[in-house]
Amino acid sequence: MSSVQIRDVRKSFGNFEVLHGVSIPIEDGQFVVLVGPSGCGKSTLLRMLAGLENITSGTISIGDRVVNNVQPKERDIAMVFQNYALYPHMTVAENMGFSLKLRNAGSDEISKRVKRAAEILALTPLLDRYPRQLSGGQRQRVAMGRAIVRDPQVFLFDEPLSNLDAKLRVAMRTEIKELHQRLKTTTVYVTHDQIEAMTMADKIVVMHDGIVEQMGTPLELYDKPENQFVAGFIGSPAMNFLKGHIRVNGVATFEGPNGVKLPLKSAPAASDGKPVVYGVRPEHFTIADDGADAEIVVVEPTGSETQVFAKVGGEQVVAVFRERHQFNPGDKVKLKPDPDVIHLFDEATGKRL
Ligand code: ATP
Repeated sequence: MSSVQIRDVRKSFGNFEVLHGVSIPIEDGQFVVLVGPSGCGKSTLLRMLAGLENITSGTISIGDRVVNNVQPKERDIAMVFQNYALYPHMTVAENMGFSLKLRNAGSDEISKRVKRAAEILALTPLLDRYPRQLSGGQRQRVAMGRAIVRDPQVFLFDEPLSNLDAKLRVAMRTEIKELHQRLKTTTVYVTHDQIEAMTMADKIVVMHDGIVEQMGTPLELYDKPENQFVAGFIGSPAMNFLKGHIRVNGVATFEGPNGVKLPLKSAPAASDGKPVVYGVRPEHFTIADDGADAEIVVVEPTGSETQVFAKVGGEQVVAVFRERHQFNPGDKVKLKPDPDVIHLFDEATGKRL
């Protein structure tokens, strides 16, 4: 196992810079998830870690070794891709042992390692099958098995679950997490799915347009997003944003679209009149007599909770209630954000206030 240090890494393809100085410290044994919208540069960064792309500037170290000029096969990492093509003419055991065979490992050593990986991944009864005789989830486990047998210092995963159906994705997510708890191998995992990031990561790195917007534990990012981008990206359904101004007149309030007034616990010094974006997570609305006027648009009960779309000051917001309400479209209700947990962002810079 090893720590990984990414220091001020830049990447250009021709004249086009896609990573603009990215620094990410990764501790030994940490499970780090790189997340961000399509094109933000997360796969490129992972490929640079793997040695499949060169580094335009900056350094990447694995353990205490700078690996910028180290060949992929010398880096002691194993990568699991989205397209985990297994060799169709090889059994599960042969697929799993193949990389060791290429490295001239002895057949006893190969069979010992394959057996151990198969036990960890519950693949033992399937070792003699061919890929075509496996389900999608089993194939994905074989792909992970190929990585595990190598006992690398670092695992790299590039959207390994995106070809699986929703139910299997959730199950595999848990398996990968369990696997990590067991092996404690330093892991860098790329996804554009923020739920995957939230549920799996020790540390999430939110990327956007070739920079790191924020990194932290899932709950740090959820509770204290440093800017509006992270606030909108982490959380599902997404945080509601309303544009308006701070009003300080004895007490501080937020004055939103069409004069709607929403509570503030406090306001930054001398902020009367400041243009801001008011952020409320859907679960932080309650129904209260002193709430803002709202009109229900759509009600979506899921059994465990109810998702309600409503208009506040003419803007659509989404609220999630754990308790059951008998709402109908067109109903007038009073919605109140919990002032203790609202988020304020500078309208011009998007930074958290
Ligand atoms: P996705 O979630 O869609 O895979 P991503 O965040 O992984 O996106 P990258 O694949 O890293 O994004 O791509 C980052 C940027 O670099 C994109 O603008 C992409 O078009 C560009 N890019 C990637 N590979 C190359 C290449 N070989 N040549 C030129 N541009 C590239």
